[in-house]
Amino acid sequence: MEKLIQTDWHVHSALSDCGSPEATPEAIVAAAHQAGLRAIGITDHVTLPRHRDRPALTRKALPADLGGLQVYIGCEADTFAPDRFSIDREYAATLDYVVMAASHLYLPMVDKPAAMTPRTMAELIVRLTRAAIGSGLADIIAHPFGVPESPFTFQEIVGELKRDEVLSLGRAAAEAGVAIELNPRYYRRAPDAAGWLFGCLMETGVKFALDSDAHHPSGVGCRGPIYATEEELRAEGITPELLWSIEDRASYRPATSL
Ligand SMILES: [Zn+2]
Ligand SMILES: [Zn+2]
Repeated sequence: MEKLIQTDWHVHSALSDCGSPEATPEAIVAAAHQAGLRAIGITDHVTLPRHRDRPALTRKALPADLGGLQVYIGCEADTFAPDRFSIDREYAATLDYVVMAASHLYLPMVDKPAAMTPRTMAELIVRLTRAAIGSGLADIIAHPFGVPESPFTFQEIVGELKRDEVLSLGRAAAEAGVAIELNPRYYRRAPDAAGWLFGCLMETGVKFALDSDAHHPSGVGCRGPIYATEEELRAEGITPELLWSIEDRASYRPATSL
């Protein structure tokens, strides 16, 4: 059977404030080989202007011999408000691709509802995600409805979503050629909510980007007990045909290793 997890499009290096000091480009590449991946993307946070040199620094620090692994350099950008993003087109054009977060509600620059409830959070993330999809900046929407440092759980927020809201987001993304991140961690942590959310999205024809969002090399390729296994993902209906790859990007550029 074809291996399902062959790529990992959302990996942090030590350059991200939240990244482990051990997450050097060399260690990430070695970890990707251990995980049997064919391609990875290193995507450090670019939230503030002073973060903008991170991708270029990573590109420079890549080992000369990648051992056949395709390595792409992107970033995890932010949606601050429906008309405000942490990067612009000119900057995006310097990267291989962009993972765009639309649920970093802990950031002070991100719009907040007057009262934070699971429903107001769900509504806000729907709005921000729709804007990210339409921004022309995003290739992948990071951790849909996953809110780091949230007062509410993923299940609570997803539990407030209406099926039509999810279908409409999925259709918009499919039409724009934007993928939605599928992190097997959500299937492990909240199988019912993840099954429902991704099940709805599967009906829309949107592609899923398999991502670990690893902050330490040990997580690259979704390895370890916090991630659902390939068998579990298959049981949820995830097939290789549903998965996004960088070749699906409209403005595809060749890999660093080519
Ligand atoms: Zn994030
Ligand atoms: Zn991340």
